[in-house]
Amino acid sequence: MRGRLIVVSGPSGAGKSTLIRAALDAVPPLGYSVSATTRAPRDGEVDRRHYIFISREEFERWIREDRFLEWAEYSGNLYGTPESAVDEMLDTGRSVILEIELQGARQVRKKRQDAVMVFVRTPSIEETRRRLEGRATETSEALERRMATAIEEVEARGEFDHEVVNDNRDDARERFVGILREIAQGGEDAE
Ligand code: ADP
Ligand code: 5GP
Repeated sequence: MRGRLIVVSGPSGAGKSTLIRAALDAVPPLGYSVSATTRAPRDGEVDRRHYIFISREEFERWIREDRFLEWAEYSGNLYGTPESAVDEMLDTGRSVILEIELQGARQVRKKRQDAVMVFVRTPSIEETRRRLEGRATETSEALERRMATAIEEVEARGEFDHEVVNDNRDDARERFVGILREIAQGGEDAE
């Protein structure tokens, strides 16, 4: 049986990466799609594990070669999902998580109608700002750009099949892992 495609989206700082790390440990056969990006690596980010870090020139070549399932420009950088790696994992029966922003999520929903869409957000937009400030990975200009995008993204949450409000860490983890387990282990009807 083919695995399911699971799109996880939501504002920067909502806690997507934190929740996905927990789910990858808790739901064993899950796969994770490593995106390509033109953004510079953050401290501690490892090429080909967190992202495939490439130049804008190379990214544009990959677009011409039709190598992306979806791609988008976000906050001044390009991000995209290499399609063949995703399909190889799905073919082995593993479900695969894509952690992508809203424009990409919409492309996936159109192209892969069986994808399950999960939205993650903080309880309030002020909390998003606090978490981004706490993470301290962005310049103040980049942080403001992410905040402006966050407000637009939250308005689209109704387009998703599931919504996880990441308030208390343990509760959110439990809900998120529960949803992913259900999808990956076949509890949710394919449609
Ligand atoms: P995203 O991947 O959505 O951009 P991260 O997973 O990097 O978000 O989380 C953003 C910041 O918020 C990180 O510093 C993380 O440790 C912190 N964080 C994640 N979940 C919570 C939570 N439930 N409560 C408080 N802080 C959190
Ligand atoms: P960050 O720079 O914080 O790692 O990611 C910025 C945004 O880009 C996040 O919303 C993240 O989910 C999104 N993103 C990461 N990889 C991809 C991708 O392959 N495609 C798209 N469309 N968005 C991505």
